[in-house]
Amino acid sequence: MKHLLVNALQSSAGQRCLTLLESAEQRRPDQLRVLTYHRILNPAGFEQQMHYLAARYNVISLPELFAAHQYGKALPPRALLITFDDAYRNFADTAWPILKRHNLPVTLFVPTAYPDNPQGIFWWDQLRHALVSTPRRDPLATPLGRLPLASDRERVRVYKQLREYVKTLPHGESLSCVYRVCRQLDAPSPKNEVLSWSELRVLTEEGVSLGAHTQNHPLLTRLPLAEAVAEAADSLRDLQHKIGGVLPVFAYPDGAYNRAVVAGLRRAGFKMAFTTVRGVNDLRRTDPLCLRRNNVGEQATQPVLRSRLLQASLIVGRPKILYRPGAL
Ligand SMILES: [Zn+2]
Repeated sequence: MKHLLVNALQSSAGQRCLTLLESAEQRRPDQLRVLTYHRILNPAGFEQQMHYLAARYNVISLPELFAAHQYGKALPPRALLITFDDAYRNFADTAWPILKRHNLPVTLFVPTAYPDNPQGIFWWDQLRHALVSTPRRDPLATPLGRLPLASDRERVRVYKQLREYVKTLPHGESLSCVYRVCRQLDAPSPKNEVLSWSELRVLTEEGVSLGAHTQNHPLLTRLPLAEAVAEAADSLRDLQHKIGGVLPVFAYPDGAYNRAVVAGLRRAGFKMAFTTVRGVNDLRRTDPLCLRRNNVGEQATQPVLRSRLLQASLIVGRPKILYRPGAL
């Protein structure tokens, strides 16, 4: 079904249809589209996407968006913001050279307990690494029961099952659950893949904007409210201290938020925050602490990227306040 759709989009009729729909939706004012990425494993695909966006959209920087929001200035037509979460070293090695080549501004959301911390390995990377590299082939005792590890496919499936289970736990419990599972797998720990503070400083000097993404990357809906707000506020404070000149802008880890978290962030002085709810933002009526983002991924071909941006543009308006599991 997915193949049929992709083929239809790639046909000349499909292309004409996309162009017609695009020209209709691009007349709407004050619409902001936001794309989100994490790691780029297909640089050629990412390069193609950036080539397309540079030609068809006005890719704006975070300071431009912030100024438009704060001072009520109009956004340019077809405004689009490109964001990366988690500050993986892969961003500097792979994505940033491509973005620079196309002269595209970008925003990087940094979980601030991870730079320069040898123990700073995201729990999902720890879990995936342990399951991919474990020598163990007999079933594994987990909170979901005994799960098979005999084939590569089974180990990947176990990773996905456990990852979703861990996200349902309170933050403290989630880390100890991952620790207990990894201990049984007898695999070496992966290296920290997050950019160091000095690398982040160089990137900001080259024009990358930074935003807060908590210190420890907990799901904010799985923490007591005071701790959730402190995680956000302390990450902004870390960025101000280590880098300086960082705007009060935030991205919810895994897109997890609720009314209480939004109100807490507002009280803490945040002016804008990004969810992982798909859609386009109408800045005249969207709560700036519930901005929508679209996780398209660099594997998407150009027609798929175009149709996803179009699909997203059909969802405009107030984002729902909800917990939305999504990409980390
Ligand atoms: Zn994240």
